[in-house]
Amino acid sequence: MSGDPFYDRLLLAWLILALVAAPVLLKIRAPYGRYASAARGPALPAAAGWLLMELPAVLAFGYFFLAGAAPKTAPMWVFFALWQAHYVHRSLIYPWCQRGGASMPLAIVAAAFGFNLVNGYLNGAYLGALSGGYPAGWLADPRFAAGALLFLAGAGINLHADAVLRALRAPRERGYRVPEGGLYRWVSCPNYLGELIEWCGFALMTFSPAAAVFAVWTAANLVPRALAHHRWYRERFPDYPRARRAIVPFLL
Ligand code: NDP
Repeated sequence: MSGDPFYDRLLLAWLILALVAAPVLLKIRAPYGRYASAARGPALPAAAGWLLMELPAVLAFGYFFLAGAAPKTAPMWVFFALWQAHYVHRSLIYPWCQRGGASMPLAIVAAAFGFNLVNGYLNGAYLGALSGGYPAGWLADPRFAAGALLFLAGAGINLHADAVLRALRAPRERGYRVPEGGLYRWVSCPNYLGELIEWCGFALMTFSPAAAVFAVWTAANLVPRALAHHRWYRERFPDYPRARRAIVPFLL
């Protein structure tokens, strides 16, 4: 592990929490988007909710990465750029591109704020300080190359899939349609598949325990939600494509 007892205990607790959260989320659907209801308490407009939830990932990661004493070599700047590109998009661009997104319950905003704060700290502190730094030669390591390719492929899949969903609605429309094209041919939630590939790629390219735990968390959040979306589509649209799976083509 990192050698910092506080950090190591927090990372272990964080991993255990992800392993507990996964079965819970299989039973209880996170109440936002299509599963939001007024009974879940006060809510924020979707865009404000997403901004507040995701910004801690930009700020906490940025702070702990930059403040950390590890020498900032070229591979480190690649990690920094990829993380920040993802989260600047998710917090500052994506929220304003959504169409008719349902309001975001404050309870979800608070939980996701904490989630992103912890992930931002764990990943920023590991890469910026506790890793001791990555030599410039890490750029030639096959783990770096394969991980970076996975990250970029995942990001492309995620962005394309979210764009397909956006195009299903007119600007202020709120209804749902069956998405088609791209990886929707095979799965109901290619946006989640892309996100999962991205963070597995990040874990591989950094070969970092913090990023590996974050990939586990991403699966814990998104696999149950993809299964719920898939069931929801099948119940709501009788002619929903039978061969389509939830998140992994031909399998799940
Ligand atoms: P959803 O697929 O549930 O919704 C995305 C957007 O598309 C929402 O605005 C939604 O509207 C709209 N939408 C969804 N399906 C349809 C449809 N069939 N017809 C019309 N509009 C539709 O994704 P999430 O909101 O859960 O996630 C958004 C992004 O955040 C994704 O890219 C995901 O990967 C990422 N994310 C990452 C997590 C992580 O742990 N790393 C956790 C959660 C999300 P509405 O809100 O009205 O349903």
